[in-house]
Amino acid sequence: MKTWAHRKADGRRLLLYGTTAYVLPPLAEGPSITENLSHLRWHPLRMEWVAYAAGRQERAFLPPAEFCPLCPTRPGGPPTEIPFEDFEVAVFENRFPAFADQPGPLPEIPGETAQAAGACEVVVYTPEHTGSLGTLAQERRELLVRVWAQRYRELCEREGVRFVMPFENRGEAVGVTLHHPHGQIYAYPFVPPVLQAEVAAFRRGPVLQNLLAQVGSRYIVEEDDAAAVIVPPFARFPYEVWVVPKRAQPGPWTFEDAEVTAVARTLGRVVSRYDALFARPFPYVMVLHAAPKGEEAHFHFHVEFYPVMRGADRLKYLAGTELGAGTYTVDVLPEDAARALRQVEP
Ligand SMILES: [Zn+2]
Repeated sequence: MKTWAHRKADGRRLLLYGTTAYVLPPLAEGPSITENLSHLRWHPLRMEWVAYAAGRQERAFLPPAEFCPLCPTRPGGPPTEIPFEDFEVAVFENRFPAFADQPGPLPEIPGETAQAAGACEVVVYTPEHTGSLGTLAQERRELLVRVWAQRYRELCEREGVRFVMPFENRGEAVGVTLHHPHGQIYAYPFVPPVLQAEVAAFRRGPVLQNLLAQVGSRYIVEEDDAAAVIVPPFARFPYEVWVVPKRAQPGPWTFEDAEVTAVARTLGRVVSRYDALFARPFPYVMVLHAAPKGEEAHFHFHVEFYPVMRGADRLKYLAGTELGAGTYTVDVLPEDAARALRQVEP
């Protein structure tokens, strides 16, 4: 994998990753960064941090394709976030970060605050404006897995970073404001609550390996020697799917080639199955759960998909019991979801 580092006019870092070396000169730059006001406030009842990224309301909201900030810049055309006329995978620092190298000042408020040190990056999967993880070429998906591995390594080395999470929000139903195929990476200065729970589970035992050994064919959507795609028998979302490497790996940075290939391939096939399920682009949240720093010995990396569809034209909303109590109600049984996903052709 070849890497090309570029410093944008406003100081933000842009990294181009490719299978071949990058040679094109940079073009005109887009809008500059606004004042960074990111900081953390402690929630004393939930005992967790809340991250503030004031200024986010100004971001582009569903711009027409010709003003897409994630497309390559056309020579003579309007500047985008990527001042190059072509690339394979691009990563740049978010213009409105919740976590940053140089976080904002701490405000005077009643309650505890903290520096939102960390990083928020945008990962652009392709220069093509349309498409998905399902339609990308396998070679590009493998490059993306290697880019994730490289970002994990670099961000985890930063002082103060405790946990790094690549994720993708797909579809207007989950609040996506740009349709260009892309994801994000957050680097947190603390271990967030969901990961604290997973760490506690993995410290007690190899829960994910036990699950793989127990689930049986009813819950397996597909598998090969290196990875399995399962609907967890306790799924909290209709059609929730996990992609799990069979060997317990702390994260993509320890993958062997076979695991890069298998994870890249199965991520694409999950998205293709989703799109085939109701014959429409399927909105979801995809998160990568790798080991927080210091937890590498026990943790078992996996990818979780949280879809928000519960039928061809019915959305699943998080409401009273989910938001107010943290208890999920689901009206599609996981064994039925697994069968439906197995039956569609990716
Ligand atoms: Zn675009």
